[in-house]
Amino acid sequence: MVSKLKVGVHVSISGTLDKAVDRAKEKSCTTFQIFTRNPRGWTFKDLLDEEVNEFKRKVKEYGYDEPIAHMPYLPNLASPKDDIYKKTVDTLIAELERCGRLNIPYLVTHLGSHLGAGLEVGFKRIINACNKALNNVDNNVMILLENTAGTKNSMGTYFEDIKYILDHIEQRERVGVCFDTCHGFAAGYDLRDGKAVKQTLEEFDKVIGFEDLKVVHINDSKGDLGSNIDRHEHIGLGCIGEKGFKALLHDERICKLPLILETPIDNRRDDYGNLKKVRELAE
Ligand code: ZN
Ligand code: MN
Ligand code: MN
Repeated sequence: MVSKLKVGVHVSISGTLDKAVDRAKEKSCTTFQIFTRNPRGWTFKDLLDEEVNEFKRKVKEYGYDEPIAHMPYLPNLASPKDDIYKKTVDTLIAELERCGRLNIPYLVTHLGSHLGAGLEVGFKRIINACNKALNNVDNNVMILLENTAGTKNSMGTYFEDIKYILDHIEQRERVGVCFDTCHGFAAGYDLRDGKAVKQTLEEFDKVIGFEDLKVVHINDSKGDLGSNIDRHEHIGLGCIGEKGFKALLHDERICKLPLILETPIDNRRDDYGNLKKVRELAE
């Protein structure tokens, strides 16, 4: 089963989009995640047919079946500010369209911050943004809601919150979930050993259900359980630890999903080292 493990990293699109696919292959990824454009601004260039074709050609040639895209950094789905919110919805629409053209089935998004306006405002904004974007774009791309570490005013910390959003999406079959292990642990969901993993996954199944889980962001955590600190660590070197990841990677419902590393690169380890560690622990 180990050879079938789909694990990869977030790869850079520097140069042209198809270079990301080369990078994924060079790093021995069996899946990968990208931004479809520079994530640090609101503006972007439209995709050219030529770059779309080159990207799709390499994805097919190297045998990747479901590349993943992540929303840029600036959009805030829960923003109470009208100008930012409008730009966010426009970005979500554009990203859904771009993913559709690139044959990317999943668009992962953070749920944003209500900036003090309150959870109720945040929920309304997120639900409306997703409904609007999905009604605007007619393709098969799914929006994946990512859980958060629970930093102040952030949305989507608890499984119940994500479930509430899912249940209010009109085109329900076009939304799913991306579970980030670092964020979940920092939010208070224990993953440190077999028993804790079992409990947390049972809770996920009870509240949301595994049929909605499409991608896992597999990151260790610099912050302790319930610390609400969103700082990623190399696999096994953080507060979750090897025992926790070993248990997680041996769960049938987890190890069949695309697993994306968003771990640091420093003098202790690089992407290759973390990929190797995940494969080791999955054996
Ligand atoms: Zn994310
Ligand atoms: Mn993540
Ligand atoms: Mn994070």
